[in-house]
Parts: sequence; C-alpha cells; structure tokens
Amino acid sequence: MKQSTLCVQAGWEPKNGESRVLPIYQSTTFKYDNTEEMADLFDLKKEGYFYTRLQNPTNDAVARKIAALEGGVGAMLTSSGQAANFYAIFNICEAGDHFVTSNEIYGGTYNLFGVTLKKLGIECTFVNPEASEEEISAAFRPNTKALFGETISNPGCKVLDIEKFARIAHQHGVPLIVDNTFPTPINCRPFEWGADIVTHSTTKYMDGHATQVGGCIVDSGNFDWDAHAEKFPGLCTPDESYHGLTYTKAFGKMAYMTKLTAQLMRDLGSIPSPHNAFLLNLGLETLHLRMPRHCENAQKIAEFLQADERVAWVHYSGLPSDESHALAQKYLPNGSCGVIAFGLKGTRETAVKFMDSLELICIVTHVADARTCVLHPASHTHRQLSDEQLREAGVAPDLIRLSVGIEDVDDLLADIRQALDKI
Ligand SMILES: *Cc1c(COP(=O)(O)O)cnc(C)c1O
Repeated sequence: MKQSTLCVQAGWEPKNGESRVLPIYQSTTFKYDNTEEMADLFDLKKEGYFYTRLQNPTNDAVARKIAALEGGVGAMLTSSGQAANFYAIFNICEAGDHFVTSNEIYGGTYNLFGVTLKKLGIECTFVNPEASEEEISAAFRPNTKALFGETISNPGCKVLDIEKFARIAHQHGVPLIVDNTFPTPINCRPFEWGADIVTHSTTKYMDGHATQVGGCIVDSGNFDWDAHAEKFPGLCTPDESYHGLTYTKAFGKMAYMTKLTAQLMRDLGSIPSPHNAFLLNLGLETLHLRMPRHCENAQKIAEFLQADERVAWVHYSGLPSDESHALAQKYLPNGSCGVIAFGLKGTRETAVKFMDSLELICIVTHVADARTCVLHPASHTHRQLSDEQLREAGVAPDLIRLSVGIEDVDDLLADIRQALDKI
C-alpha cells in the first residue's frame, strides 16, 4: 500500500467487534489461564504479552505502522529519540568496541556518543560526512561495529549521501544506522538507499503536535550478521540471559529486533507509556498531509530570507544554491522538511534581537512541530559545546534554526518581516 494509506491504517487491524480506533492498553500486565502459557512467553517460544516493559499492544501497533512506513521487518518504540539512538548502538556495541559517526548530528546525540558512551567503554570517531570514501574508511578499526549519520542533520540541515555511507559501512562489514527524524519516511526511506537500521525521534514530525517525547528503531532485516559473526557475538553466539539462545539462529531477519526488545528493553526499560504511543499514532495519521505543507512553507520562507539583504546566509536544501541541493534532489525529490538554518548579518545580539521581536513565531526548545518556532542552538540546545565543537557539529555560532510549521505562509512571512525591521 501507499504511504498515505499506511499512515492512516497500518499497525492496527481490529477484528470483528473490536475498537476501530487503536485502544490504549494502559496496563502493566496481561492475564493467562495457566503457568505453561506464561512460561512459553518467557522462553520466547511463543509471541504474546506479559509485561509492558517488554511489549504492549498499543506500543506494538504504532511500531508496526512505523516499520511499514520505513519498509522494515520490525520496529520498537522507545521513550525518546535519545533512547532510540542509544539502543541502536548498544544493541551491537559493548565495552571495547568502536563505531564511526558523521559529525553533522544532533547535539544530544553528539554528547551521547562522544561523552556518555565513552564512559561505558564504547568509543567513536567523528568524521566529516563530506570527506572522501578513503578518508572516512581510514576511521575504521578492527573493532568498529557500525557507521552512523542523519539523513538531514539537525540543526545544520545538511543532506547525507546515504549510498556513499552504506557502501563504506558494507565494505567494512558493519551496518549503516541512519537517524531519519527530519525527512520522515514520507520524504525519504533510507533502506531503499542501503541503510540497514533507521532511528527516529518521534517527538518531531511524526508526532507533529508537540504532545509526547518518543523514539523508534526500525530494522530493514537486510544486514547479514552471521556473515560477520566474529564482530557481532551478541547476536551470533548464545545469550546466557536467554538459556543459551542465539538470536540469528532463532529469529533470522528479526534477530536485531528481538535482541532489542527481549534483552535491552528487558534490562534497561526505556519504554514509552501506551498513552504516549496513542498520541504518536494520532500524529502519524496525518503525517503524509503535514510534510508537504511544511516543505512548501519552508521553501517560500527560505527564498524570502535568501533575497533579504539583512540575511548573511541560508541553509535549506530546497534552494538551488544550497550545498546539499544535489543530494536533496536525489534523496528527497518530494521535499526535505520544514527546518531552515540561517544567519543574520551582525553580531550574536542581532540574532537575539530578531528572535525576541517575533510575535507569532515562538522561541521554544523544539523543532518539527505544526507551530512555527525558532531556536538559537549556540545559546540553547548546544550550550554544552565549545565554539570549536559547535563548528565541528556544523553549527555556526550565529545559526538560527527556524522550524516552519503548517500555518498560512503569508502570516509567517509578515512576522519575519516585522522582526527583521526591528534589528
Ligand atoms: C530531537 C532529536 C533527537 C533526540 O530526540 P528526543 O526525542 O528529543 O530524545 C535525536 N535525533 C534528532 C535528529 C533529533 O532531531
């Protein structure tokens, strides 16, 4: 089925007499008639529900919808996008392992990878995604287990060359993990370009109404773990915590997903509440209608900003002059997203004055919402990073991140115009 139909209908197929709308199974536990049945669930011999930390029908229905939209074999919801990226890496990396990541990534992910994972003994090397294949390959080591990038970087708005990254990852026998938060599967499906695993902060466009913080991991099922078994003992050798079960042998294409839910979620427990999954599902039902409008509005605003002499620079891949335009035409032919990065001529204070003068457009620590909002990463989300780290992460100190919503574009333009007049 087409994406629009999947947005509306995938994941929940009610049987005769059941609720048409996805019900909220706000229950921690599930009842069984005898001990044997419950024991089979614990042994992973049967599929079913017993405790919401492992699986919940509402959460699973929403995960199935996202898996269908991405074209994956399975998906798991997490309590946040941060948790999704952490689990995606931690499912295949342990102390002593290493991975390679684009340095054009979200500030929270940058900290998670560069600081927190290091404390767990997992190291990473940040690479410039625009570097040559040889340069990026040089960052790989014998203990490297994954390559990571963002389809469209937050907040730099650079488009990833997914095919190039997939080629490099596969030459080194490791999967490519892509954070597809900004384009969503409506505008890009990374599996079609060779990515193996996709992550999302569902807090953003997927929800789209700023009502829940959530994340998701989707597996294409395409990566052949057993072909590189020595690199992935967690998937290809017996798991002591599951009576010696080997995920690849027992679950085939679902090995990575099963380990995620049955082992990592069991032990770490970052699940979303079923109520949050319900809200996310409402957002997903209109994702295919909202994304084109975000892109249409952002395109007009990016063109307006580029033509204004008070604006120093604009990054929006829909602009023909943008450095990511060629990649966007290949990977995002129907539009990228509603996020624009730009800088004003003047000082940091000029940016602050502009933002403080906006009336309709609000300053919020959020992005990818139905309501247009604005943020100055250097003084907000990326505060912890030094100026050098900021530049490494593709964030200029004067960068303003404008997240264009789905209001009438003329009202948005009027607000931007009057704020520019005040600087
Ligand atoms: C927001 C964001 C995250 C983190 O997600 P949370 O839901 O805020 O935890 C990760 N990656 C990208 C690209 C994001 O925009």
